Amino acid sequence: MSKETILFNRPFMTGKELDYIAQAKFGNMLAGDGPFTKQCHRWLESHTGCNKALLTHSCTAALEMAALLLDIQPGDEVILPSFTFVSTANAFVLRGAVPVFVDIRPDTLNLDERLIEAAITSRTKAIVPVHYAGVACEMDTILAIAHKHGLAVVEDAAQGVMSTYKGRALGSLGDLGAFSFHETKNVISGEGGALLANNPAMGLRAEIIREKGTDRSRFFRGEVDKYTWQEVGSSFLPGEMTAAFLWAQLEEAQSITNRRLAIWEHYHGALAELELQGLLRRPIVPENCQHNAHMYYVLLAPGIERQVVLDKLKSHAIYAVFHYVPLHSSPGGVRYGRVHGSMEITDGYSERLLRLPLWLGLTNEQQDRVVDVLGDALAALAT
Ligand SMILES: *Cc1c(COP(=O)(O)O)cnc(C)c1O
Repeated sequence: MSKETILFNRPFMTGKELDYIAQAKFGNMLAGDGPFTKQCHRWLESHTGCNKALLTHSCTAALEMAALLLDIQPGDEVILPSFTFVSTANAFVLRGAVPVFVDIRPDTLNLDERLIEAAITSRTKAIVPVHYAGVACEMDTILAIAHKHGLAVVEDAAQGVMSTYKGRALGSLGDLGAFSFHETKNVISGEGGALLANNPAMGLRAEIIREKGTDRSRFFRGEVDKYTWQEVGSSFLPGEMTAAFLWAQLEEAQSITNRRLAIWEHYHGALAELELQGLLRRPIVPENCQHNAHMYYVLLAPGIERQVVLDKLKSHAIYAVFHYVPLHSSPGGVRYGRVHGSMEITDGYSERLLRLPLWLGLTNEQQDRVVDVLGDALAALAT
């Protein structure tokens, strides 16, 4: 049997990264907001339809900017899923807010919009939906609830670059959206992210918060004759070399997405039989959501010991991984947050979830080997 290693992730390079970094170097523009950054901003604005896109160091930084933009104060509450990355909560905890965790939907593993209203109190300021695996949350309902209660919506679209909901780009639907270009995402710059502001007032304030609390951006546009300290802020902008790398990726974002979707579809077809046998459940993508193939995960049948499956795959040199330890059950979540309602789906599904290797260059033959070994492991464990 072949033991060729199949890694879980391999960052994809388009081939233009070093050219563009060299251009940035020879142009002697190395600080932030140079030509590559501006090109990335324009691309993001035209592809998402947001009012203003601003590159940041990370999605984490973009979420921290969102908390500043919303003037989150100590004691304020923010509603979010527990089944997410730590930054979704931490950005608000940094401002003294309390993350209120609600359960996820059993089909998409996204924030269950039917549970949000019951979790709202007089201290609630925002709802933070996370588009898991690049599949959209039920945004119409979430936006309607936010509107009714006067709450802001911040989309954690870290995994959602190039995904849409009813034809509209993720990150452009709420008041604010946050993208990640971390090495493990679809479109990358090592570390990197972007804040999308979806109304002009937020956009202008976002520029100020990102530039150390000054109106430097307006000064460079010639809109003010000197720049001064305006409000609280920090340095959230990446340098031009990061933007140059990102530009090489954004140019190819559509083809990256198409190629990932083909790999995703191959898994989906190859795993149908195991689902019919009741050994696992495949991802469910609602009809009005176009996803970006960020991830292929399966939910193992209840009772199947995930670690045994992971070990079996590893013994065949196949590196699969699990995902989030729910925030409400982590030490930080217990300390800073609180749970609203049952966490049954979050607790149950997080223990059954297994992510398969997915990267550009993964061949159908390699995928078939993953599926074969997985099928053997599950058949041996099912009684
Ligand atoms: C990756 C990720 C983040 C963090 O992104 P960084 O760019 O590494 O800060 C936040 N939220 C979710 C849901 C993510 O998947």
